Amino acid sequence: MISKLLHGDVTTWVWALALAVGIGWGVTSGFLKARKIQPRGFKWSVFRNEIVFGVLNATITGFILGTARGKLEAMGWITTLHEPAAWWRIAGEYVLYFVGFDTYFYWLHRWMHVEPVYTWVHKLHHRSTAPNLMTTLSVSPLESVINGGYVILFLLLVTCHAQTVALILPTNIIMGLYVHSGYEFLPRWWNKSWATKWFISATFHDQHHRYFTGNFGGYTTVWDRLCGTMRPKFERDFEAIVDRRKQGGEAVAAEA
Ligand SMILES: [Zn+2]
Repeated sequence: MISKLLHGDVTTWVWALALAVGIGWGVTSGFLKARKIQPRGFKWSVFRNEIVFGVLNATITGFILGTARGKLEAMGWITTLHEPAAWWRIAGEYVLYFVGFDTYFYWLHRWMHVEPVYTWVHKLHHRSTAPNLMTTLSVSPLESVINGGYVILFLLLVTCHAQTVALILPTNIIMGLYVHSGYEFLPRWWNKSWATKWFISATFHDQHHRYFTGNFGGYTTVWDRLCGTMRPKFERDFEAIVDRRKQGGEAVAAEA
């Protein structure tokens, strides 16, 4: 995106401007304040460390996974189909990726909470008890390679179309940023509807950072519900946090 900006891509400039105006409006109008999950959770000292670890991790992990994928493609172990495909074929590949990642992430995440794995692999990411966007990247490279390695593993096992790959990468980025955003944008009925209660929210993952236990899921609440690891008061807390919007974003954190 930066190189596109430097080369004067008009569409990218419009998106960047819209994003800046949106964030500016969100901050000045109180829209974001009213949706903050932990109103008093932000700490500059933690944020500064997250920037350092985030940049280090992105560089190291990007190099390792990028090199591994490039070599496997060169060896012909990973191939991507470029011909046109029916929508249901792309949807099928995407669902396979989605369900596979959710399962992979849940069980490895639970394993990462067992000592000494927690200290060596996962502790760095939990330095932030009130996540923000930078927390997404502030992960030990070992953990990042394990989690990010799923995409390579999936592409090794399933020969996908380029359209599916084009959906997978934004899903990873958007979900990672959303669940660590520190803000809840979802409606009150989210955990009540049979169609949506299976998908995690920012509050769901925020509580995992705040309390260290429970709510291990990466994309869905399915494994947490099946294994009894969803925090018992999560749904009540979610409603309390969402209800705060009506009170004009008064800084009252929901207590568990
Ligand atoms: Zn964790």
